[in-house]
Amino acid sequence: AVNGRTPLIAGNWKMNLDHLQAVAFVQKLHWTLKDAKHEDGSVEVAVFPPFTDLRTVQTLLDADKIPFALGAQDVSAHDSGAYTGEVSGAFLAKVDARYVIIGHSERRQYHGETDEVVAAKVKAALKHGLVPVICVGETLEQREESGPTAVSVGQLEVALEGVPAGADIVVAYEPVWAIGTGQVASPEQAQEVCAALREVLAAKLGADAAARTRVLYGGSVKSANIASFMREPDVDGALVGGASLVVDEFAAIIRYQK
Ligand code: PGA
Repeated sequence: AVNGRTPLIAGNWKMNLDHLQAVAFVQKLHWTLKDAKHEDGSVEVAVFPPFTDLRTVQTLLDADKIPFALGAQDVSAHDSGAYTGEVSGAFLAKVDARYVIIGHSERRQYHGETDEVVAAKVKAALKHGLVPVICVGETLEQREESGPTAVSVGQLEVALEGVPAGADIVVAYEPVWAIGTGQVASPEQAQEVCAALREVLAAKLGADAAARTRVLYGGSVKSANIASFMREPDVDGALVGGASLVVDEFAAIIRYQK
């Protein structure tokens, strides 16, 4: 644990692996990790499959007693009703999802999600007992214009509007220029922003929440660089995209601790 916080290694599958492929993948990953740390609770592992896989993966985790947490990649801001194509947090809770990614840069970029939409989704997740993984991060242009921390700090401030101090949340710093590009942030760059985000947590939710809440780094995380991020005091884990789809790579990331 980092400062008492259990590290979280989260695999964001994005739009990859159908429910049959998901079964094979999760079984292989579990087998590969047989003696790994996550079995004793010192590292938490979570997988974020597409919606159509969730029920299948839930059933597999349950039947084979596989200690991975389940998460979804998005949630509706609404509870139920005439919202074609949306998925309620109530439904996610019913398939034992513990986490839900909210405000991923791909949702912000391709689906027009504003900070206000993100804030509404965070509230919806909490209402249904889910832990929101709130994603923030700047584009290269924004970094050059307003510095490394301003955009992420602003996004998190809006996302936390109306969130109670005791809420269970996760924050993920994902610089847009590092997502899927192989152009990874340096550990120092990640630390700088993650520390600024922890200050936002302290200001908005109090010192206890800031000390307890995990702040992840995401963007081209691999087995070769995970340890350097995890050495930083304010980086409590990783949100992994591409490398979470390769069993041996993801297993090696989870095993980053010697
Ligand atoms: P990447 O994606 O690891 O493929 O860069 C990270 C993410 O978008 O969560």
